[in-house]
This record gives sequence, structure tokens and C-alpha cells, in this order.
Amino acid sequence: MGCAPSIHVSQSGVIYCRDSDESNSPHQTTTISQGTAATLHGLFIKTDAADSIPSVLAYQSRQQQQQCPGPRRKDRREPAATATAAAPRRAGAHHCCGIEAETQTSQTSVKQASTAEIQIGSMRLTQDPIQVLLIFAKEDNQSDGFWWACDRAGYRCNIARTPESALECFLDKHHELVVIDHRHSRYFDAEAICRSADQEETSVLPLLHAGFNRRFVENSSIIACYNELIQLEHGEVRSQFKLRACNSVFTALEHCHEAIEITSEDHIIQVWKMHYFLECKNRRKESIDVKSITSRSSDAPSLQNRRYSSMARIHSMTIEAPITKVINIINTAQENSPVTVAEALDRVLEILRTTELYSPQLGTKDEDPHTSDLVGGLMTDGLRRLSGNEYIFSKNVNQSHSHLPVPNTIDDVPPCIAQLLDNEESWDFNIFELEAVTNKRPLVYLGLKVCARFGVCEFLNCSEATLRAWFQVIEANYHSSNSYHNSTHAADVLHATAFFLGKERVKGSLDHLDEVAALIAATVHDVDHPGRTNSFLCNAGSELAILYNDTAVLESHHTALAFQLTAKDNKCNIFKNIDRNHYRTLRQAIIDMVLATEMTKHFEHVNKFVNSITKPDEGSDCECTTNVKNFPENQTLIKRMMIKCADVANPCRPLELCIEWAGRISEEYFAQTDEEKRKGLPVVMPVFDRNTCSIPKSQISFIDYFIMDMFDAWDEFAHLPVLMQHLADNYKHWKTLDELKCRSLRLPSENNNGS
Ligand code: AMP
Ligand code: ZN
Repeated sequence: MGCAPSIHVSQSGVIYCRDSDESNSPHQTTTISQGTAATLHGLFIKTDAADSIPSVLAYQSRQQQQQCPGPRRKDRREPAATATAAAPRRAGAHHCCGIEAETQTSQTSVKQASTAEIQIGSMRLTQDPIQVLLIFAKEDNQSDGFWWACDRAGYRCNIARTPESALECFLDKHHELVVIDHRHSRYFDAEAICRSADQEETSVLPLLHAGFNRRFVENSSIIACYNELIQLEHGEVRSQFKLRACNSVFTALEHCHEAIEITSEDHIIQVWKMHYFLECKNRRKESIDVKSITSRSSDAPSLQNRRYSSMARIHSMTIEAPITKVINIINTAQENSPVTVAEALDRVLEILRTTELYSPQLGTKDEDPHTSDLVGGLMTDGLRRLSGNEYIFSKNVNQSHSHLPVPNTIDDVPPCIAQLLDNEESWDFNIFELEAVTNKRPLVYLGLKVCARFGVCEFLNCSEATLRAWFQVIEANYHSSNSYHNSTHAADVLHATAFFLGKERVKGSLDHLDEVAALIAATVHDVDHPGRTNSFLCNAGSELAILYNDTAVLESHHTALAFQLTAKDNKCNIFKNIDRNHYRTLRQAIIDMVLATEMTKHFEHVNKFVNSITKPDEGSDCECTTNVKNFPENQTLIKRMMIKCADVANPCRPLELCIEWAGRISEEYFAQTDEEKRKGLPVVMPVFDRNTCSIPKSQISFIDYFIMDMFDAWDEFAHLPVLMQHLADNYKHWKTLDELKCRSLRLPSENNNGS
């Protein structure tokens, strides 16, 4: 029966006893002669004598002895001479092999048998009294020496007589120190080892290899044993105790959700603890000195330094933004990644650190000029493209509000208009016909029809007269002089919005308030548009650009003006009857949608939508829409995407309508270029020069860059096969013209068909 394999004391620190043949072997005790080197630590004896003696003896205080004399051997020396009674800590807790209860070692005059306080840095730890297991087959002077040494040191002590009882006792107590008598091994040449130990150090190696930590040469003097034990306590036992304490700290850190930084006394960071990730840096190789990194940052930084500097910077933030968490997670992952992965992650970090996360970066040289002009013209504030004459102040923004006509009643709608509006729910509805029959007032007529369909007056608790007056005011503030951004465009966007709201998945995802907000937002989204881009207004130093700090100038103006116009006159104030909370929510939704039409945020909105709004599983439409309804942030993404798609849906209209819109937007751009040239302003979209522009090329670029992906995503959500077919047909139209080197809206042979 093997004893040793189970006595793996390494965890508790001192003696590690591996399986060995001799420990399994029957043993004959030998008398220890004076001067014989005896190896006590970690050497194990199985003895035949075990049968006749108790297998485990525990050290016992006098007090305990009086209460429970137990099976102590009669010949055991009375400890009372040197020991004074101490309160047993775990008295009676253990019956090792059913022989004897363990007790607290006696308090002695030398050492208190109490918990010791140990300081590690700022940590104060308490350590229970050391427990010692003496494994001696037979009692003799040596075992007594240790027994009394334990008593003197204030340790708890057990004596085991057999391997089995030793094991059982050890498994129960996990003694910090185990002393094993090896003087009697039949197969172990202790003398030879000790002889050689006298000559050369390496002679203890076999023992160390066997798993033992120390060798003690026989010496039964209590003070020699005592010195040996307390050296062990202050050496390896204490180190193990500290290591275990550190492990506990790491475990605690792992469960802590706060960012924690552990530094040395000179503020060198030793340990990073990020959210959910524990990072332990090798002190010498990877310590981080925030200050030195910051000062180093102007040098060409190595891969490592770059990583650390980013960590240092990010870590200094107290409140973590989601992007900080992401960067921290990547930083942590890099630490354990192969170089190729770490480098790829470095590239990822570089991208993440930019603020323009959602805007694709155009290649500069070989990019198609139509695309770069559109991007430059629609997606910047003009500042990046300044080419002189910056900030020339001009008051060229059209502020004129035409006089409001007397409102019609619903019955006043002429039959030709009513007839046209009958087809209002179809995607192929011809807005230009409505424009014509309403004398360029399509918005008010279409608006009333659509709003009736969606119960807007009921939601707002306002009369149709108020709604009508409101539509009239808003429509009057669109510039009919603009070829594109006039009230027909607003009516077109309102039409598209109403169409999208009718789609099952959209309807199922939004609330009535969202529908009302979307219809209002579409109506007002370009009100008072000057027919010039944001870039132009910024370059020209227009009042609006000054007012809105060159940021989302037009979109801010459309929203602000819409609310001003609404509130100005009670007759047109559609919000006058809703309570404050409803108004605040509605207003917020309208503002958010109108601002979403700003093209600088195009990719941000599209990508957020794509990333968050998933395709429905077959047959589980209800579940998906219920889910969206439970998440207002997803409803917001859908509303933004909806108004964005409605705003630029003209390439998805039937070919003739698409061509008309392309002609109108091109004309507006041409007019802007004309004015820029006239006034010496930077030309923000040079390709939109009426003398040189290829409209097919510009439409191909616009569709490729802004439309295709967005409508793919929107179609995936809302299911819009008719639109996608038109888009494909229209794209083909522009491609055909381009291949034929045609720069206009149609082939010359078709020119009589359109405007
Ligand atoms: P909005 O000013 O709100 O109508 O935003 C839509 C943006 O897309 C505007 O800057 C328009 O100039 C632009 N846009 C819409 N349709 C087209 C088109 N067919 N070709 C080029 N640009 C367009
Ligand atoms: Zn628009």
C-alpha cells in the first residue's frame, strides 16, 4: 500500500512527498546512533510497529488533556512543564483514524498560539497558527524534540505512526509542515546521502528531486528543532501564504467589474484589470510607466509601445464609454495573440480610434470624379475642400415666405386632384402630375390625404383645418424656385414615407406616435431649403452656417424652422392639444429623423441599421417585430433608415420619374456651380458643370455609392421588390447611356419624351 502518492504537500507548502518504492516497503526500525545523519524532513517511514501504537497523536494542551486525556501514550512526557494552556481553536473537531482529537497546541512562554498578522504591501492578512504533522513510526528523542519545539513555537501538532493515518490526517488538516522520519528506511541509504552531503551540496538533489524541500540532520535538541521549524515558517511557509493571498486577490479582481490599476510604490503599473478581463503583466518585461509612454509618444513607437500608450490613455478615463471597453478588450486579446493577429488587431484599433467610424474613406487619386464630387459636396461641410476665398460672407439665403393662400375645405379638392390621389398608395404614383394639377402645391393635398389614412388628426387631437393650415404654412416655406428642393420633393418624400409605413414589417415595428412623427418629419425635412448644399453655405459664410457652426446647417435649420412656424400661429399649431410628454416625445422623434437626412451621417445610419436590425426568420415575423417594439433604440434606427430611404428614393421610382428627378437635382447642382464660379467661391462639385457634366455617370456614382447598399438593407427589412426592380432598371438605363457616351438624361432620339 503506497503512502506517499497522496501526500502532495506542495499546496500547503513545505514537503512534497512523491511515490517511492521504499515508502511502500516494509520497514525495519533501526536505532539511531549518535552522529548518524537522519533526514527528517520529507522522508517517510512505514513501520511494522504501527499495529501496537495509536496511528495519530495530536499535540494537546494541558487544559485539553484534563478534559480529554484520550489515547496519549502514558510515557509521553508531560508538556505542562513548559506549556501553559491555551484556548483550543478547533478542539474536538477531528478524530484522525478515530484515535485522538486534535487540539490547539499549548501557548508557551516563547510563542503565542494565536493568529499572526502579516503585511503584504497595503494588505494586512491574518495567518492561523502553523499546523505540523510529524510522521514517526516510533517515538524517540527526535520526535519528542519536534513535539516540544512545536509546543514552544505555538504550532498545532499531530503525530502519525502509519502512512495511512498520516495521509488521512493530512487530508483533513492540510498541515503547513510535514516532518517525516527517514532514518529507518531499508532501501534508502540515508547514511550515504548524508555522508556525501557533508562534502558537496549536490548530494541533496536526489531528495529534492524526490519532492522534499529540506533535510534535517538528526538533532533532538528542542531548540535545534524549534529553530528549524521557525525558519521554515518564516521562509517557505510565509512565502506560500503570501502567494495564496495574491491568488485570492486575482480571483477577486476577476470578479470585479471595475477598472483597477495596481502599481508599485514608484507608480509603475503592475497589473491592469479591465472590465471582465484580468491582465497580469510580467513585472520586468512589461511594466507600464504611463508618464514615460506619454513622453515617448512622439517617437516612432514600436508595436508594443503603441499598444501600451493606447492602453494608458484609455485607462486613464474614469467612466468607460462602450468604445473604450471594446478597445480594452482588443488590447487584452492582443497580449496573448500571435504577432500576425496582434498586428491585425493593431490595425483594428487604429480604425476604431478615428471618430469617422461609419464613413468610408475614399481613395484620392483614382477615384471616379463624380463619386468624389458627390461625396465632397454632400458629405462634408466644405471646409476640407476649401481652395481660397474662404469665408466670404454673403446673405444669399432665400428667406422669402410667400403669402399664404386661403385654406380650402376638404370638399374643395378639385376632382382631377382627388382622382390622382386615389392612386396615392401605389409606389408608381406620379408626383409630377400632382405638382402640375395643384399648381405646385402637391404637399398640402397629398399631406391631407395621407394624414387622414394614418389618423394623424386623431393622434394629435387637432382639427383637419389646423392640419390643413399647417401643411399650407410648411409648403409655402419651400422654395418653388428650386428645381429639386421644392415642395414637390417634400411631397415625394412624404409619399415614400407613407408607402414604407404601409409595409407590414415597418408597421409592426413602430408605434402610432412613430408613424405620426415620420409623416411630419418627411413633410418638413427640407423646408426653406435654399437649393444649395451645406458645403456651399459654409464656404459662403452664410447666416445659417454661422448660426449652426457649419454643422448640419440645413438639417438644423429645417427642423428649427418647422417648429417655429408651427408654434407661431395657433391656427396652424398641430401640437397645441397634445400633452407635454407626448409633445416632447414626438418632437424628439421628428428632430432625430430630420437630422438623419444629413448626408455626412449616411454610412453611420445605414451601418447601424444593418448591424442591429436583423432579417426575419421564416414565419416568425411577429416575434421580430415584437422585439423591435420593445427596443426604442431599434425603432429609432428603423425610423432614420426609413426617412433616409424616402429622401433619396428617386432612383427607385419608375424610370420616367427617376429621370425627372435626376434632371432636377442636376440642374440644382449646376446652378450652385454657376454661383460658386460667379462669386469666386470654391467649387464643391466641379463635375456638376452644366457644360461638361455626364448625368448618367453622376447617377451611376450616386447609386453605386449611396443607394445600392442602403436599399439592399432596407429591402431586406421591409421587402420592397417593386423598388428594387425599378432601381435595377434605372441603373441599366444610366449604364446604357454612359456606354453610348451620352451625357444627358436620355438618348437624343428620346428627348421629346421628357423635360
Ligand atoms: P436632401 O437634401 O434632404 O434631399 O438630401 C438628399 C441628398 O441626396 C441631397 O443632397 C440631394 O442633393 C442628394 N440626391 C438626391 N437624389 C439625388 C440624385 N438622383 N443624384 C444625386 N444626388 C441626389
Ligand atoms: Zn430631401
